Amino acid sequence: MTTPARVECVKVLAQIQAYVDGELDVLECSAIERHCTACDACAAIVRGLQETIGLCREVGRAPLPESVSGRAREQVKRLLESSRVTPER
Ligand SMILES: [Zn+2]
Repeated sequence: MTTPARVECVKVLAQIQAYVDGELDVLECSAIERHCTACDACAAIVRGLQETIGLCREVGRAPLPESVSGRAREQVKRLLESSRVTPER
């Protein structure tokens, strides 16, 4: 099953990006986690980021080191670019 990223996924990726930038709150984080229970693609991304930056674990705590957040941001950006979703039909 190779489903390309859907609109919902793009939203989730954008939220992950916000998290990396330190702008995400706990509620949005739980929305990400809920989406990940139904979406393998995003779950894989979040899992990878959880190991790197502790996504959704320590929201609002210490800011990420720039080397880490820069790498995570780049990763998410690349995913967004490769997901070619048309926002509206
Ligand atoms: Zn998804």
